[in-house]
Amino acid sequence: MMDHQNRGHALLGPSKAYQWMACTPSARLEEEFPDTSSEAAAEGTLAHELAELKVRNYFYSVEFGKRKLTAAIKKKKKEHADLWQEEMMGYTDDYLDFIKSTALVSPTEPYVAIEKQVDLTAYIPDGFGTADCILICGDTIHVIDFKYGKNPNGRVSAEHNPQMQLYALGAYEAYRMLYTIKRVRMSIVQPRLPEGITTWETTLEELLAFGQVVKEKAALAIEGKGEFSPAEKTCRYCKARGKCRARAEENVKLAFSDGFRKKPPLITNEEMGNYLRQGTDIAKWISDLQAIALKECLAGNEVPGWKAVEGRGSRDWTDLDQVFAHLTEAGIPDAILWERKPITPAALEKALGKKEYVAQTEGYVLKKPGKPALVPASDKRPAITNKISAEEAFKEENDHE
Ligand code: SF4
Repeated sequence: MMDHQNRGHALLGPSKAYQWMACTPSARLEEEFPDTSSEAAAEGTLAHELAELKVRNYFYSVEFGKRKLTAAIKKKKKEHADLWQEEMMGYTDDYLDFIKSTALVSPTEPYVAIEKQVDLTAYIPDGFGTADCILICGDTIHVIDFKYGKNPNGRVSAEHNPQMQLYALGAYEAYRMLYTIKRVRMSIVQPRLPEGITTWETTLEELLAFGQVVKEKAALAIEGKGEFSPAEKTCRYCKARGKCRARAEENVKLAFSDGFRKKPPLITNEEMGNYLRQGTDIAKWISDLQAIALKECLAGNEVPGWKAVEGRGSRDWTDLDQVFAHLTEAGIPDAILWERKPITPAALEKALGKKEYVAQTEGYVLKKPGKPALVPASDKRPAITNKISAEEAFKEENDHE
């Protein structure tokens, strides 16, 4: 089975292709910064491992039957008790269901590869990647990627997605001698997001044309050449984002350019839209700068005009058992010492898993519409105008103050 944590990182990895294809010198610049991995990444790794087990069991039930699957899941649960959430079972089922339904409509018995390492050296020097699932259905390669993120800002569409197209190119190179491929379909399954499955289809010719662009960009990127191209999406996960000069200069230009200052007193809605779009990266850039400046100050380096101080502290018990025994003895009743709070629907779903949660709570859950939020026009959710009026939203906010 694939070791998800050590899938390996090529200098020009497919998951960062959206970055190094847009800003070719960024990959080399990033080498100066350490790797960071977060709890969300560890959770995603576990979900991927679980998903892989289920898909393996479905397609290779002879070698990896129900009993082996159950034992393997139990082991994972035990090894990662700190990360395990029952809801992970339901979300990985959603991924499996999508693959099953894709395989079932295939005109021929599909060829299936799970966690397939694909060779991309025809396009990227030393390039490789790992596709979660590749199906070959008739003359179509279908590449399916599982993403476990739950942040709506991390929503990724399959349409023209460089990472998916690279996996598809790798799959084509791997199977072109065995199958006649004409079409390429790519799906991203993000089961924790509403309407989280997107599929995009293209022709082999278009994919190969994309491959030529990759080749050119990769040749520049491997040398650290080309133009720096700061943009909100491009810079979002770049390790150099806090110290990159091109991004700094671009944001300063956006924020303080003459054009910005010489506008008439009232701005139009069109300008408002533009400023908001430009301002998104300015806000992110400032917070990246703050994070990196704090790190520098803590490391004892000088950032003129700034210093690190101790933030607001908090209190905690030295020994919970001891202090509670003492407080009880002092006559303080349990009703004061312990808070009893009803569990929220979201927390209950996390604890029980989706199936059990739905079975137990049907008819008891009140769905409240969220407060209106401003998002880019490209967001998949339908636009609203009056679901909750702005007045009500503010009233609600004031009520909570
Ligand atoms: S921060 Fe942006 S502009 Fe700078 S290297 Fe990274 S991706 Fe390129």
